[in-house]
Amino acid sequence: MPVPKRKTTPARQGERRSHLHLEEQQLVECKQCHQPKLSHRACPACGDYNGRQVLDIEGKAQKKAEKAKKEQK
Ligand SMILES: [Zn+2]
Repeated sequence: MPVPKRKTTPARQGERRSHLHLEEQQLVECKQCHQPKLSHRACPACGDYNGRQVLDIEGKAQKKAEKAKKEQK
């Protein structure tokens, strides 16, 4: 198995890791409800995408409420 000839110095390690950072999320305003949302994604607040309803927001909320009720018992 190949083994590194020299120990990686802290400076080299830092240079390598200088590119390891998270990108800031690019938020755009939803045309339907004007909430911030990720671009090229359906709006989590109203379920709208490109002027079309694609997520069942009410059904999801209902299911969540039912589940919470069940777990309470
Ligand atoms: Zn929306």
